[in-house]
Parts: sequence; structure tokens; C-alpha cells
Amino acid sequence: MTPEYIASKLSLLPQFEVVSLDHRTGETGRVNILQGYFSSPISNKEQAANLFLSDLRFLDGLLIAADQREHLRTVEAGGYCWSDIYEREVLGAHLAFFGNYDARHLRLAIDPDILWTRIDFRPHKALAKHFIDKDGKRWQKLSEYMEGNAIPDGAWLVDEGWDHEHCIFCLNRIDRETPGYKSHHEVYGDEWTCQWCFRNSVEQHDPRPLLIRYTGRDFSSL
Ligand SMILES: [Zn+2]
Repeated sequence: MTPEYIASKLSLLPQFEVVSLDHRTGETGRVNILQGYFSSPISNKEQAANLFLSDLRFLDGLLIAADQREHLRTVEAGGYCWSDIYEREVLGAHLAFFGNYDARHLRLAIDPDILWTRIDFRPHKALAKHFIDKDGKRWQKLSEYMEGNAIPDGAWLVDEGWDHEHCIFCLNRIDRETPGYKSHHEVYGDEWTCQWCFRNSVEQHDPRPLLIRYTGRDFSSL
């Protein structure tokens, strides 16, 4: 992806213009308080506010609820996510708002070099293993089994034990009844997306539909 291509995709998303930057000390340390204006209204139902710079570095923010008439909005972003971002890059900037999605999600949605294949999901073998949690309780943990791999000590195979996947964007279930799409890419491969997210967003390389809340989606066209 060229910088121009990334910029054109980020410009589709709501923009947050940062007009002031302040700090407070929270329980986990320094919290940065960004105040600014969105280019289109963002509902109070949105709480996560990941804000992207033009090179896909992003701030992992929390959008503070506001009165509907209040246009000046506040995003709090903890200290750790600033490790590679300078304040001078943020103040006065227009940052692309992408809800709770991170840079991996954004790349999966817009990168034309990531190939996707439609898959009719079939249950297959899972590798099962017991583990003991910190309270001493015993659990069984399943992981996907790849044919031909060795079976580790203490583990066993469960036929059709791996019976579903989840969409990386909306967590929709992908199983025998609901096909999905799987990514192929050296770095961003082996992720799953549901039909709705694929057809509306990934196939078009348009990140905007992913901001439509799950309850507001129209599934009739699938
Ligand atoms: Zn989905």
C-alpha cells in the first residue's frame, strides 16, 4: 500500500481534529486528554476511539460520553500507547476514527495484497489438553489441529472438535451453516471474516461499514 492509498482510505473515516491536549494522573499512570471535533457525529454508544495517524500508527483511546448538543468531544488515551507517537504529531492533526479496531483490522479491511477465499466451513480435528488455572480448577482447552502435526505429550485429538471460527471484525460465528472468508498473506494471513463484513467492507476495501453497529446491520442481502 502506498502512503497515498492509505491516506485515501483513512480519509473515508470520521476525522477527529485535536484542538487541545492535556494530562491527568490516573490509576495506571499518566493519561492524555485529547479534546477536539469529529467531522461527523459519533454516538455515545461508541466507547472505544482508536485514532490513526496517516502511517497507521494509532492511539488506543476511550471516548468520553457527551451531551448530544456538545460538539467538543474528549478522548482519553493512556500512556503506553504513546510510545511511538509524539504529542506534536497529534495536536492540531486530523486523526482517523476507527472505533475499537486496531491497525491489524484496518490493514485486513483495506490492503488489496491480502487475498481472501470463500470457505464452506467444515468441522475438523481439535487438539485437546487439560490445564489448571490459578484457583486449582481443571479446564479442557481446544486448539485447531493441523493434519500431520505431532501430538504433544498429555494432549489428545477430538474428532470435529474444531467446529467454528469467529469473524475478526464483528465476532460473528462462522460454522457449517454460515460460510466465511479466510485471508492469505505472509503477515496478515489466516484470519476469518463473516459474509457481512466481507461483502460490505473487505471486498470493497472500504473501512466505513465496519463502524455500523452490529444491531444496525442489514443482513437481508446476504
Ligand atoms: Zn463480521
